Amino acid sequence: MQSLSRRQFLALGGAAVVSHLATTAPPCYAAPPSFPRWIDRQSYGPFQCQATFPLSSLTPLFQELSALEQELQRTLAVPPAAQAVDIYLLENKQSHQKFLEQLYPHVPYRRALYVQRAGRGSVYAYRHRDLAVDLRHECTHALLHTNLSMVPLWLDEGLAEYFEMPINQRAFGHPHFKKLRWNLRFGMIPNVESLEAFQDLNEMGGAEYRFAWAWVHFMLHGPLPAQRALVHYLADIRRGNPPGQLSERLYQAIPDVERQMVLHFKHLRR
Ligand SMILES: [Zn+2]
Repeated sequence: MQSLSRRQFLALGGAAVVSHLATTAPPCYAAPPSFPRWIDRQSYGPFQCQATFPLSSLTPLFQELSALEQELQRTLAVPPAAQAVDIYLLENKQSHQKFLEQLYPHVPYRRALYVQRAGRGSVYAYRHRDLAVDLRHECTHALLHTNLSMVPLWLDEGLAEYFEMPINQRAFGHPHFKKLRWNLRFGMIPNVESLEAFQDLNEMGGAEYRFAWAWVHFMLHGPLPAQRALVHYLADIRRGNPPGQLSERLYQAIPDVERQMVLHFKHLRR
C-alpha cells in the first residue's frame, strides 16, 4: 500500500493533524492524572523525555533532536533553548488520546501536540511510523518558543514543516515539493501578507501549511537578503523590538519577492 502523507490522513480521517497550541492552555485537572505509568526517563540536550515504553530504540532520534537546536542556531541565529522542554511519549494512539483528554479535555485531539504553559513547553506524541517527523515538527515549535515571545502562526508552522524532515532531506526531499510544483504551474502561490492574516490554526489546512513551508524554503535556500530579513526579524522579536511584518522586510530586501520566490523553485537543482 502506498504510504499516506499526514495531510492525506488529515483529509481522510480528520484527526491526524500535527499541530500545536500556541496558547497558554491551562491544565484542566486539580490532581495529577493517575494515568499513564512512565517507565523510562531520559534527558537529551534540552529535552526531558518520559515514556511508557523503553526509550533505548529512540536514542538516534533524540540525538537528532538535540542537533536540531544547533541547526536552528546555524540557520536562524536562534540561541540554544532558554528552558528545558518536556516530551511525553505514549505507547499507542489510544493511550495518547486518553492522556490528552485528561489534560486538555476541551482541545480537539491531535496526533502530536506542543503546548506552552507557565513558560515551559511540553510535547505529547505516541509511538508510530512517523514519530520522528512528529517530534522534529513539535520540537521545532518548542525550541523556537523557548527564546521567542511570539512567532506569527504561518511562520511557526512553515519553520516546523521545514525542520520536520531529516537534515539531508530538508532542501530537496519534502513531500510538499510535488504539490507545490502544480501550484506554481497554475500561479497559485499566496503572498506572505495573506499568510500573515491567519490568526487561528483552524484557518490553516494542508495547502496553507505547504505555502508557509514554501516561503520558509525560499528564505533559507533562496537569495541571501531573504534569509537575512528572516534572521533579523527573529532577532528583533527576541530582543523585544517591535518586529513589524516580515512581509514588509521582504519587500524592502527584494522588491519583486513574489517573482523571485517562483524563480527560486523553478531553478532549484540538487
Ligand atoms: Zn505545527
